[in-house]
Amino acid sequence: MSDWESVIGLEIHAQLATRSKIFSGASTAFGAEPNTQACAVDLGMPGVLPVLNREAVNMAIRFGVAIDAEVDHRSVFARKNYFYPDLPKGYQISQYELPIVGKGHVFISPAEGEHLEIGITRAHLEEDAGKSIHDLFPEQTGIDLNRAGTPLLEIVSEPDMRSAKQAVAYARKIHSLVRYLEICDGNMQEGSFRCDANVSVRRKGEQKLGTRAELKNINSFRFLERAINFEIQRQINLIEDGESVVQETRLYDAERDETRSMRSKEEANDYRYFPDPDLLPVVITDADIARIRDALPELPEQKKQRYISDLGLSDYNAELLTANRETAAYFEEALGDAPDQCAQLANWILGDLAGALNKAGLDIAAAPITPAMLAQLIQRISDSTISGKIAKEVFEAMWQGEGGADDIIEARGLRQITDSGAIEALIDEVIAANPEQVEQFRAGKEKVLGFFVGQVMQQSQGKANPGQVNKILRDKLKS
Ligand code: ADP
Ligand code: MG
Repeated sequence: MSDWESVIGLEIHAQLATRSKIFSGASTAFGAEPNTQACAVDLGMPGVLPVLNREAVNMAIRFGVAIDAEVDHRSVFARKNYFYPDLPKGYQISQYELPIVGKGHVFISPAEGEHLEIGITRAHLEEDAGKSIHDLFPEQTGIDLNRAGTPLLEIVSEPDMRSAKQAVAYARKIHSLVRYLEICDGNMQEGSFRCDANVSVRRKGEQKLGTRAELKNINSFRFLERAINFEIQRQINLIEDGESVVQETRLYDAERDETRSMRSKEEANDYRYFPDPDLLPVVITDADIARIRDALPELPEQKKQRYISDLGLSDYNAELLTANRETAAYFEEALGDAPDQCAQLANWILGDLAGALNKAGLDIAAAPITPAMLAQLIQRISDSTISGKIAKEVFEAMWQGEGGADDIIEARGLRQITDSGAIEALIDEVIAANPEQVEQFRAGKEKVLGFFVGQVMQQSQGKANPGQVNKILRDKLKS
C-alpha cells in the first residue's frame, strides 16, 4: 500500500434550488405523485421549445464567483445524445465546450493543521433526466418523469485529491458552499447532491496518471469514503497481480461494500455533442457578475478568517464552526447573548453539544438547547454561579427539557457556594474528621490535598467553589 499513491477527481451534481425547471415552468418540488410535474417541454413533445430559467443561470454565476472562477461571458448549451427510457427527448441538454463557470478552486482542511487547495476544472448547467423505478412493480420498470428538466450544476474537480479522506473533505466543502450560497438544499437522500468519484492509482513518484474507474451511485459521505477505499485497494491488487485496470464505470453497492462494473470504455456512449439549436447562447455581462458578487453572503472561508482574526479562535475551531451554515449561525446567535464567551462557546458547541446531537442523530438546527440557553449556561459559569462540573449537569437537564439554566440551577439548588464562611465551616469539619491525613500532609505528603478537596466537594454536593476550597484548605492545613 505504501508504494502506491491514489488519485481522485470528483464530479458533483448539485440540484439547483429553483422553483421551476431549467427549461420549463413545471415545478421542481420533491415527492409529488409520479408524472404529475412533467409538462410538454419536459416530456420532449414535438413542437415545444425550451426557455432558459434565469434564476438557474444566476445560481451558477453565484457559485462561480464564490470559487474565484472565471465566469464566461458567453456560454452555450449542447445536446448530449443517448437513448434511455427516462430521457424522452433522446438527448440531455447540457453544456460542453463553453460551460458557464471555468477554472476555480476551494480550500480544504482534511485534518487539523492540514490545508490543501483543490482545483475546480469547470461547472456547467444541465437538466436532470427522469427516474427509472425498478423496485415497485415485479418484472417491470416504472418511469417517473417528475425529475426530468430539473436544473443541475455539475461541478468537475481536477484530479487533485490523494486519499478518500481528502475527497470527502472536498465533497463536504462543496456541500457546505452550495448551502451557504442557498443554491442547493444539499439533501443527499433525495438526490439533490450526488457525487461520482474518479479513482486511479500509480506508483509513488510516477508522474503519469493511472487508468481511472468512475464510481457512481454514492449517496452519502460515508459511502463515498468506503467506495473510494475499496476501489483503491481493488486497483492495487489488480496491478500487483500483473493485471491492469480498465477504464470503466463502476457501481457502488453499499450493502456489500464493493464496486462492480457497469460499463467499460468500449461500451461507452458516443454522445455526439452539438450546440442546441433551440437555445441561444447565454450572454453574461460584467454588470451581471458584479451585481451577483455584491450580493454574496459571507462565505465559509471569510467567516473562518474573521473568527480567527477578530474573535481569536484557533484555526481548527474556526474551521469546524464554519463547516456548515447552521453551526455558524448557532454560534453567532449565542455569541450575541454572551459576547465575551467566545472560546467557551466554541468549546461547548464543538464538544458537549456536538456530542449530544451526534448521539441523538439531530441536526444543530433541531437542538433542544437553543443558542440563548447555551449562552446563559456559560454566563453562569463565568460569573461563578456554578462550576464547570455542575454545568454539565445543567446542560443535561436543559437537553431533557427541564427549562433554562437559571430555572434548573434554582429548582435543583445547584448554586455554587462562594461564601467563604460556609466553605471554611465545611473544611473545618473535614479536617476534624481526618486527623491521620492531616498528619500526613504536615509530614510533607502534598498529595493528600486532593483527598481533602474531594471530601469537601462531596460534603457540599459539588457546589463549593473549587478555587476557594483549594486556597482555604491549603491555608488551614499549613497553619
Ligand atoms: P469524463 O467526462 O469522461 O468523465 P473528464 O475528463 O471530464 O472525463 O474527467 C472527469 C473527472 O475525472 C474529473 O474530475 C477529473 O479530475 C477526473 N480524472 C481524470 N483523470 C483521472 C485519473 N487518471 N485519475 C483520477 N481521476 C481522474
Ligand atoms: Mg464523467
